[in-house]
Amino acid sequence: MKYPNDEMATIAQKLKQAKLKITPQRVAVLSELTDNYDHPAADAIYQKIKLKLPNISFDTVNRTLISLARNGVIRIVEGLDRARRYDPMIEPHHHFYCLKCNKIIDFISEEYDQIKLPASITKKHQVLEQKIVLNGICEDCKNKKDNKGRK
Ligand SMILES: [Zn+2]
Ligand SMILES: [Zn+2]
Repeated sequence: MKYPNDEMATIAQKLKQAKLKITPQRVAVLSELTDNYDHPAADAIYQKIKLKLPNISFDTVNRTLISLARNGVIRIVEGLDRARRYDPMIEPHHHFYCLKCNKIIDFISEEYDQIKLPASITKKHQVLEQKIVLNGICEDCKNKKDNKGRK
């Protein structure tokens, strides 16, 4: 299967940085996640990859995702729902989570990055990441509800 050259170069670069070998499975998973900011679950990624690599198993996709996350190539999204979800954005950012459609929207906030951590945590535990999760109803879901109301 063919990938656009610049996408392939980005993927190869990410794997190289993490000192991981370039394998068809890793390339397929990263290609699916590249520029996909829906924070998909493993199953959604598997469904898409299966169309291109019909012989790949869910287990392989799942194991590839976990190993990529463990090596810092992608992120595992905090447990908001039962299926573990993945994030291609490695830079510090925060999440708005829609309780209706389960969409996760990325946002950046310097103020949130700088919030002082509670001493009760920092004294005992090592904080690796500082992330704010806002829960609510997204714009699309809000508009849907408004339209119904007007009828
Ligand atoms: Zn929504
Ligand atoms: Zn994100």
